Amino acid sequence: MLSLREVTTMRVGGSPASLVAPQTSDELIAECLKVWATGEDWLILGGGSNIVAADELPLLNVIKVETKGIQIDETPTGAVIRVQAGEDWDEFVAHTVAAGLSGIEAMSGIPGTVGASPVQNVGAYGQEVADVLTRLEFLDYETGNTEILENKDLAFGYRDSIFKHGKVGVIIWVEFKLVSSAHTHKTERLIEALGPAEETPLEVRKRVLALRAQKGMVLNEPDHDTWSCGSFFTNPIVSRAFATTVTPDCPNWETANEDELKLSAAWLIEKAGVGKGFSLSSSKAATSTKHSLAITNRGDATSAEIVELAKFIQTSVSNRFGINLVPEPNLIGF
Ligand SMILES: Cc1cc2nc3c(=O)[nH]c(=O)nc-3n(C[C@H](O)[C@H](O)[C@H](O)COP(=O)(O)OP(=O)(O)OC[C@H]3O[C@@H](n4cnc5c(N)ncnc54)[C@H](O)[C@@H]3O)c2cc1C
Repeated sequence: MLSLREVTTMRVGGSPASLVAPQTSDELIAECLKVWATGEDWLILGGGSNIVAADELPLLNVIKVETKGIQIDETPTGAVIRVQAGEDWDEFVAHTVAAGLSGIEAMSGIPGTVGASPVQNVGAYGQEVADVLTRLEFLDYETGNTEILENKDLAFGYRDSIFKHGKVGVIIWVEFKLVSSAHTHKTERLIEALGPAEETPLEVRKRVLALRAQKGMVLNEPDHDTWSCGSFFTNPIVSRAFATTVTPDCPNWETANEDELKLSAAWLIEKAGVGKGFSLSSSKAATSTKHSLAITNRGDATSAEIVELAKFIQTSVSNRFGINLVPEPNLIGF
């Protein structure tokens, strides 16, 4: 039996009681219903890039989504694309860019599957899945039935969706609406990263991949800085008054609410004394040498060491600034 160490990018976690890897949507639905009927614990696994699993797992049945298929329907302004949940996210991005479509190129290099992308509303450089997702098919754990959920039903927020708030089940496919465009519409964050000059989606993809690689944010087997879940904490959103009095020097970004600002979690962590490459004594968990916001596995870290460092960082930031950092990955079996 594979251990979760072998199928997650943090590379920790024990062996589940069972692991199946359905290849078609019919198999995926059948496997879920079968496991759910047992009443035992279960986990839907995509690329394992946002999961920290305990080394001592309780009885757990893992359903690893490996369904494939991309169906493109052209429209007068671009295309509507239906993607099966097990497709690799970055391969999907590459596919759309090659087809002259724009809307997700700034999210190049994010690991994982398309089916997981709505769960935390993945995003990078000002683009997020919520901007381009039209609807998805969902198999609901409570009812055992499939349903179509529209974008407005999904309660998308910053790294947040209804799937983090009690909507339990499995995403079967996701549909996106992208536009044909010679140039990428640059968000504030993308201009900050790449500059204001007009660029094609392909140019944006290439530059984003290069930027991410410098920060250890593109998976690279030999590089321990990428044995991670990417950012371990979300950027905290605080009141504008708090930001201007308590953290006036902290880099920040506007949010949809004009009374609030999003602060740089990486800056808070560094100013709280946890720099790049930091580890607790004799621990094999450390912050990335390229980015203080990523907790990484330096070789054979235990899941307890990863969580211990996360708690240490939370306590350091809380003591220094009174801000509670919220972990982004899903912690399984702790
Ligand atoms: C190096 C690195 C860089 C990263 N950079 C970013 C970034 O820039 N922006 C960003 O937003 N994220 C980033 N991440 C986090 C991660 O890539 C995303 O959260 C991604 O969407 C996770 O996909 P996955 O298939 O690996 O999900 P998994 O880790 O396998 O699962 C994550 C969660 O989604 C659930 N899930 C998975 N598939 C389904 C499904 N079909 N139906 C229902 N639930 C499902 C799982 O049960 C779990 O709760 C990064 C991670 C790494 C390692």
